[in-house]
Amino acid sequence: MPDRSVTATTLRTHTCGELRLSHAGQSVALSGWVQTTRDFGKFIFIDLRDRHGITQVAIRQDTQPELYELARKLGREFVLQVQGAVRERENKNPKNPTGDIEIVPTALELLSRAEVPPFLIEDETDGQEELRLQYRYLDIRRPLMAERLVLRSKVVKAMRRYLDTQGFLEIETPVLIKATPEGARDFLVPSRLQPGNFYALPQSPQILKQLLMVAGMDRYYQICKCFRDEDFRGDRQPEFTQLDCEMSFVEQEDILRNFDAMVRSVFREVGGIELPQLPRISYQECMEKYGSDKPDLRFGLPICDLNEAVQGTGFAVFDQALETGGLVAGICAIGLAGWSRKQTDALIEYVKQPHLGLKGLVTLRVEADGSYKSSADKFLDADRLKEIARACDAQPGDLVLIAAADKAACRRALGALRKHVADTAGLYDPKAWSVFYVIDFPLFERDAETGQLMAVHHPFVMPHAEDWAAYQAGQIPPENIRALCYDMVMNGNEIMSGSVRIHREDIQNRIFQLLGLSAEEIEQKFGFLLKAFRYGAPPHAGCAFGLDRWVMLMAGAESIREVMAFPKNSAGRDLMLDAPAPVDAAQLRELAIGVTL
Ligand code: ASP
Repeated sequence: MPDRSVTATTLRTHTCGELRLSHAGQSVALSGWVQTTRDFGKFIFIDLRDRHGITQVAIRQDTQPELYELARKLGREFVLQVQGAVRERENKNPKNPTGDIEIVPTALELLSRAEVPPFLIEDETDGQEELRLQYRYLDIRRPLMAERLVLRSKVVKAMRRYLDTQGFLEIETPVLIKATPEGARDFLVPSRLQPGNFYALPQSPQILKQLLMVAGMDRYYQICKCFRDEDFRGDRQPEFTQLDCEMSFVEQEDILRNFDAMVRSVFREVGGIELPQLPRISYQECMEKYGSDKPDLRFGLPICDLNEAVQGTGFAVFDQALETGGLVAGICAIGLAGWSRKQTDALIEYVKQPHLGLKGLVTLRVEADGSYKSSADKFLDADRLKEIARACDAQPGDLVLIAAADKAACRRALGALRKHVADTAGLYDPKAWSVFYVIDFPLFERDAETGQLMAVHHPFVMPHAEDWAAYQAGQIPPENIRALCYDMVMNGNEIMSGSVRIHREDIQNRIFQLLGLSAEEIEQKFGFLLKAFRYGAPPHAGCAFGLDRWVMLMAGAESIREVMAFPKNSAGRDLMLDAPAPVDAAQLRELAIGVTL
């Protein structure tokens, strides 16, 4: 009797990735898609593929003339069932796990015919992304894409497994709700039964999970869809998946420890990767040293403050920054003193891009003999250059790149530059992992135009107790209040964000007021939350992980679209379903909606 695999069904005993030499002699049935047929006259070989692998089927013209004739008519992507015996191959293919065997068929059954696919169903496809999205069901047949979805499933399973061991409950929350504030626009769903009224799709289940804590469900998680109607910048999707979590009777430390352990357990289980305990870096340190709240720390290249080292140079570019309370700072590109003028000019062009907005860079090379060469030689004497090099810890062979601007712009540009230089010069191992927490974010930031306070994360974040007290005593302005709020950063991507929540009505009310909400607005938008807090809210905290981005990083993919089964394109269209699409007039009438275009 052949062994029965778990994936065995009436139409197959094994998958196309399963058979090995140890199966030789067994009668089997495989079902799958025709990857290729190779006709050598006397023989035809069929490569039969399913998501598990490819198995070769060998047919002889002389002994199996009927099967041979059928096989000659097979096209790419025809769906076929093959019954036959497993035989050791003469020409083994060590590159294929099933490459030691082939199937000698006794029967072939054509299950489905197929049109010629519009692109190659192979890892190295000739299909461009738009075409692949239009025919996503064919795209996912490519092993690379199938493996990414398998990985995604494994990551989710590992998350669930860990959370289950820690006593979390998986609880679903509704998708048709009321607006939730994560700072984006809502997707609205019209109500037919209450014309003129709309549900909002959740930007996240934030408020619902907090209400679950009020309800006593002390450890909650959910793998859920979030919907945010944002402009399409970079790698965004209007709907994406979060692992959303919340815990009661905890402090920040409990969350940091628990999810440190979860992340490490997922990496271990899915990737066989041992991560060290996650370091914690303050927001302030991140901004000062790396110019970003999500720096990639697979490499160093910290930003060095040079304000002291460049006092009194008489060099207008530096003096002006110093006089206006700005910053002169540099990064030390280790080992890059040999970069040509053309290469450093390209770096200057890089920081001049409108979103970085620097006017230029000063370069300082520490030559192999320890001498200095700078693009600002005219203004900076040897002692000064030495001083700058010392402040950046530059050694012979290093290149120091120096910027001068207002503090925020200088850090932002150098933060982007450090990544650009590291990428261009290959200064880190792309397979390495850097995963850490950023803590102590500010609670508020000010809108550049209106000056209005805005929540850095969302309005439910608990302030640091001592900062809140200091603020209330009039000792610090609201911008200086730190939040009990944390992010997790993975290879330069924000992968998780969370906070200790406000569970007291008085503090929550005050925060809403600071955010400029009137009493009516508070009541209308969040009345139900404040009401719930009046009935005994436990201290609680939580977080949410961006599943798509995490899987993207583990898959080594370039975009979150590559790890989603059916993503929208970069303009927010589903090219396969052709959505969004107009709806007919009758449907609109039923919803009491008039379209004014
Ligand atoms: N709801 C937050 C978000 O979607 C995460 C959290 O604070 O738990 O970013």
